Amino acid sequence: MSITLHNLGFPRIGRRRELKFALEQYWRGELTQPQLLTVAAELRRTHWQWQAEAGIDLLPVGDFAYYDQVLTLSATLGVIPPRHRQGEIDLDTLFRVARGRAPSGQPAAAAEMTKYFNSNYHYLVPELTATQQFSIRWPQLFEEVQEAQALGYQVKPVLLGPVTFLHLAKTVGEPFDKLQLLPSLLQSYQQLLARFAELGVEWVQLDEPALALELAPDWQQAYETAYVTLQTVPVKLLLASYYGSVAHHQSLISALPVAGLHLDLVTAPEQLAPFAAALRPAQVLSAGVINGRNVWAAELDLLAQALAPYAQQLGERLWLAPSCSLLHTPVDLTLETELDPELKARLAFARQKLTELQQLQQLLQYPTSDAAQAIIAHCQQRRAQQAAAVDAKVTARLAALGAEDFKRQSVFLQRQVQQQATLRLPLLPTTTIGSFPQTAAIRQLRNRWRSGELADVEYTRLLQQITRDTIERQLKLGLDVLVHGEAERNDMVEYFGEQLQGIGFTRFGWVQSYGSRCVKPPLIYGDVSRPQPMTLAWAEYAQSLTDKPVKGMLTGPVTILHWSFVREDLPRETIAYQLGLAIRDEVADLQQAGIRIIQIDEPAFREGLPLKQSDWKTYLDWAVAAFRLCASVARDDTQIHTHMCYSEFNDTIEAIAAMDADVITIETSRSHMALLDVFEAFDYPNEIGPGVYDIHSPNIPTVAEMVALMQQAAKRIPLRQLWVNPDCGLKTRRWEEVEPALRHMVAAARELRRQL
Ligand code: GLN
Ligand code: ZN
Repeated sequence: MSITLHNLGFPRIGRRRELKFALEQYWRGELTQPQLLTVAAELRRTHWQWQAEAGIDLLPVGDFAYYDQVLTLSATLGVIPPRHRQGEIDLDTLFRVARGRAPSGQPAAAAEMTKYFNSNYHYLVPELTATQQFSIRWPQLFEEVQEAQALGYQVKPVLLGPVTFLHLAKTVGEPFDKLQLLPSLLQSYQQLLARFAELGVEWVQLDEPALALELAPDWQQAYETAYVTLQTVPVKLLLASYYGSVAHHQSLISALPVAGLHLDLVTAPEQLAPFAAALRPAQVLSAGVINGRNVWAAELDLLAQALAPYAQQLGERLWLAPSCSLLHTPVDLTLETELDPELKARLAFARQKLTELQQLQQLLQYPTSDAAQAIIAHCQQRRAQQAAAVDAKVTARLAALGAEDFKRQSVFLQRQVQQQATLRLPLLPTTTIGSFPQTAAIRQLRNRWRSGELADVEYTRLLQQITRDTIERQLKLGLDVLVHGEAERNDMVEYFGEQLQGIGFTRFGWVQSYGSRCVKPPLIYGDVSRPQPMTLAWAEYAQSLTDKPVKGMLTGPVTILHWSFVREDLPRETIAYQLGLAIRDEVADLQQAGIRIIQIDEPAFREGLPLKQSDWKTYLDWAVAAFRLCASVARDDTQIHTHMCYSEFNDTIEAIAAMDADVITIETSRSHMALLDVFEAFDYPNEIGPGVYDIHSPNIPTVAEMVALMQQAAKRIPLRQLWVNPDCGLKTRRWEEVEPALRHMVAAARELRRQL
């Protein structure tokens, strides 16, 4: 018996982010296009080689992209918005779609970018018109197949399936039902698959993650139509689902005429039995058992136990794979030479995950071999060590929590009276969201400090100067509630993670977020606690400079959780409460030190929503509770703010209200305040700061524009509940933009107060 190993996709960015740097150099004109292509080809070659060395039988092609694999597919199908088209599709066309501009061609507004399902990866949303034509226009996928074949590899092209492609697309122009385009899209997919067949490809993987969603009947029907149509092409199709269970669509999926089926058995292991039972005689089952979304080493011995009966039953028809593309994991753990060895022993990045697949194959095929026994012993030993690393204090504190720990002393309306008495803010108070420009000088300072060139005291002194300058500028602008500016923070999650017990950091653990942008998520590996105050000194310093209130600025537990790699031996809910307790301690300390307003940012609150609506309530219940755990230590006269960026709350307004923040600031400027409709309909009682300044744009809004936006807001929300503020933090902007914009904002608030 021989079990096939395959991979759904390898991170393209490079283990030292080579692609990122090459792309950015190319965009700046420092690298020619042939040079960029060389870097890219080199990366593909290396990644294929690593995979082949790890014994992967079928190597993915199509996981590489110059910006985004969904965009590559859109280009392949000729789905390029007319404003970016400017002649034949070439590499710069892709960059114009993604970034609005490229070294060649005319700038035009970039296409919309949004999160890929529940991941932190962002894709470019295909734009479809009612009369959309599809035709194979961009040869990258075929060329890369040939490139891999020329290197002697057996490849499996990987691309989005037609139904998920349609699902992710948006319609432009006159509204229409996207499914009308399915027949013509399928014709193009047939051509595309036929091209692969001509190239000698045996298997093609079509990703259909939309299957993890709850689908309306016409979308379910679309799956049948699509795969019945595509079965005429002489390639074997592997239908890949991931990110969640697809068991709710089992009868549909098991009946599809595909040669193989891939299941994410990490998020939903219980799918294995029913789908295996329904497999047709020649069908392949690809078991996605190595976690493509997290960084922890797999429990290979336990996996082998669970899979052994299926290996028996299916023989060669059982394939092994990561749960999804490894796009979401860092590339190579061997670079982490400075990581605590105990933590390192618990990790596996993309390259190591491939080795795990190989080891799992060994356990299943040669269970009594010495190699297999060594793997089992290693796993058992690791588990034993891990079990010992519990922080009893944290566990005890969590166990002792009662209902009162999640509740403010009084209801909002009573708190509001007390806060007004102490804060004495004008109507329509003005404030900002927290950060001010992170200038090159600030970043340089931090780098010098990190490298040891700058001593702690000196670093602190220079940052204090910057903070003082930030406070002075705000005083001059006439803002009512100030912030210290967050100059000391590299990142709103990393800053806290670095100071919390139980959270670790890598040096090269980068994961692509979009295009050339990568994030380096913290690793929540143990029980979380706060050894000492994290923000207190900065808050006290800033507050000492002025009588106006300066907001204490914290990142909330839900956001820290979502933007980290999180241990899996505890429920996420428990970890959220651990983080909640740590932030709660910080709130208590800030309050004790005389800070009267404390903001707990939760920009990732909404993106944590599960894929299936039926799972939302469970998530929202604990996410709200974790926030309330932090906030409820505040006295009635301490004003708690929260901030969220993506502010579509139509389906979550009850949870937002249940958070019971005294003030919520949200991103609304581009929606012309339409996002406030739901707050109005709900009779949302607490205060709201709807953003009036789109901080994503370099444009400086005028007084009149912001007055008009606030008038729109006032149509929906009573004036005494409203604040005036930008959409989000200002760290990516320049002072030359920020100062006039805020001057206009303050003038707008004054103008509105005058009109009353
Ligand atoms: N306080 C943070 C800032 O201003 C909030 C950032 C965010 O919402 N993503 O930068
Ligand atoms: Zn924001």
